[in-house]
Amino acid sequence: MRIVRSVSDVRAAVREARAQGATIGFVPTMGAFHEGHLSLMRAARAAHDLVVVSLFVNPTQFGPSEDLAAYPRDEQRDAQLAESAGADILFAPSPAEMYPDGFATRIHVAAVTDVMCGASRGPEHFDGVATVVAKLFGIVAPDAAYFGQKDAQQILVVRRMARDLDIPVEIVACPIVREPDGLAMSSRNVYLDAPARERATALHRALAAAEAAVARGDVTADAVLGAARAELAAADIQPEYLDLRSPDDLTEVDAVAPVALLAVAARVGAARLIDNTILESH
Ligand code: AMP
Repeated sequence: MRIVRSVSDVRAAVREARAQGATIGFVPTMGAFHEGHLSLMRAARAAHDLVVVSLFVNPTQFGPSEDLAAYPRDEQRDAQLAESAGADILFAPSPAEMYPDGFATRIHVAAVTDVMCGASRGPEHFDGVATVVAKLFGIVAPDAAYFGQKDAQQILVVRRMARDLDIPVEIVACPIVREPDGLAMSSRNVYLDAPARERATALHRALAAAEAAVARGDVTADAVLGAARAELAAADIQPEYLDLRSPDDLTEVDAVAPVALLAVAARVGAARLIDNTILESH
């Protein structure tokens, strides 16, 4: 695996691979790798000749009061893990390489960014995501890009952006990878002290309680959200949001008929955590 710092070096490596007929799989990340990230890399490895992973803690998607400075960074460890998961190129640019002096463009995806994390973190968050992912697609020009369903809203934003900007890339959504006790893996889980780590399992229990309600035939939003909220309350967690929405466009739905996205965000101890599940009523 090669570690590459400049846009021009990534382009050259991709051009060379393409000239030999290679297909390109791409995994954008902010590093601090865990099994969730590695599952995306393995999926890309299984389907493509050249696997490019980007490691860039993107400053434009962090709000002024968020954790940009504290975000966990360990490039050496990440490089070893990426190589073991089958990456060929680790693109780890500096902020100045991605945002040189005079950088003046911002991509805003409307509608799907008004709710959930767009509402609680502010519109800048998804503008930052859409802008950096559009840049990365322009740099890497992959055939397919791999994203985690854990960030369900992010996938919708990226799909809409790629479609609207006619970027010819297949967006592949991969399943949420969890700890043995159900907590969704996240780079931010390192912020959890022992009591918070214990309480954090309530997010997954809340989703499971909603799934159980649907399995019993309780498919209304009231029943589903009530079951989930009870689990959060038992762990003394007040969610930033707990929403039942269409998985296609994030409009609110009043029942699981026949599918719905149940998504939650909550501050637990020092970490802001998100999780979700797709509920199916048939
Ligand atoms: P991040 O480094 O947090 O920006 O995440 C990079 C990619 O990994 C995104 O597409 C995330 O959705 C994905 N990801 C993060 N956590 C998980 C997880 N627990 N399971 C699957 N994918 C994940």
